[in-house]
Amino acid sequence: MIKSIINKAFTNAVLSKDEIMHLLNDNTNNDYLFQKAHQKKTELLGNKVHLRALIEISNICMQNCLYCGLRRDNKLVERYKMNKDEILYLANAAADYGYKTIVLQGGENNTFKIAELCEIIREIKAKDIAITLSIGEKTYDEYKLLKEAGADRYLLRIETTDSMLYEQMDPGMSHKNRKRCLQDLKSLGYEAGSGSLVGLPGQTLESIADDILFFKEIDADMLGVGPFIAHQDTPLKDSPDGNLTLALKVMAIIRLLLSDINIPATTAMEALHPEGRYLALTSGANVLMPNFTDELHRKLYEIYPGKSQVAENNSLNRAKINENLIRYGLQVSNSKGFRLGRK
Ligand code: SAM
Ligand code: SF4
Repeated sequence: MIKSIINKAFTNAVLSKDEIMHLLNDNTNNDYLFQKAHQKKTELLGNKVHLRALIEISNICMQNCLYCGLRRDNKLVERYKMNKDEILYLANAAADYGYKTIVLQGGENNTFKIAELCEIIREIKAKDIAITLSIGEKTYDEYKLLKEAGADRYLLRIETTDSMLYEQMDPGMSHKNRKRCLQDLKSLGYEAGSGSLVGLPGQTLESIADDILFFKEIDADMLGVGPFIAHQDTPLKDSPDGNLTLALKVMAIIRLLLSDINIPATTAMEALHPEGRYLALTSGANVLMPNFTDELHRKLYEIYPGKSQVAENNSLNRAKINENLIRYGLQVSNSKGFRLGRK
């Protein structure tokens, strides 16, 4: 029964909500699910892994998401904002290492003026590098200016499609506005990435099944799934961490239903298991985002505990990464890694 659902997803890229819930509920065929997701990825995208250099440009955040260590009310964080020269220095170093994509990520804040971001984007683009932004909710006009400056992709996780849970977890934020942002990004021609947290307190398997169907409905170009990890300085400090296997299953089902998209092996997976990201890369993921933030700032960008340690183990050296990938039958890609068939 479970195997036939997996086979159906593999062949038709379609499942009903009931079928997805069956897969999420049952743990007897997880290895088969991971194997089929890996097979689907390999058949369509080969064994290449796209590397994206992650630069954490600021930990200042005006939002107050209950789960996140960077939330506004966490007064224990020393806040920083990188200046243009610091960002360009890291971006140039990444380009010199052979990275073809740079991800600029940060808390949601207005300390970066849009014009300033546009200037940074233009300078990085002069190196023929693809740029992904992950800096939260903006207006249509702001997204448009950033796109015109050269940004190629944007990551904005929906976190959960359960709007009540979302608004409880992200106080002061609106689920409707989050969806509006994703629509704007799509309509402006970004490669739009989304994703979810698995294991939020109060989250049900039914709502996780809804998340997967939502990703299919919006035809996201990238999807990042990460287990929730409790941070000691947040209101969710006593909540249990999310389950790695469940997060991997969600990711594998997404690969079967949205076959050609980019799926990162998320750092949160590695925070729960020393080989977490490599398990992901053999269960449907095809993207790795090595942390390129300098050590000083990286330590201050603690979304969840253990994050900066994962990054520290994560050599900046592509040869070393390639060596690790080869052990799993994978290879570093030399392309910018746009969604198949685009650009
Ligand atoms: N501020 C931007 C935003 O929220 O879209 C981008 C940066 S934010 C730190 C990136 C992602 O970190 C969020 O989308 C969220 O899913 C994830 N995150 C935050 N807190 C987390 C936690 N405690 N465990 C796992 N992932 C977490
Ligand atoms: Fe801010 Fe993003 Fe963390 Fe929410 S998840 S508090 S928006 S950095």
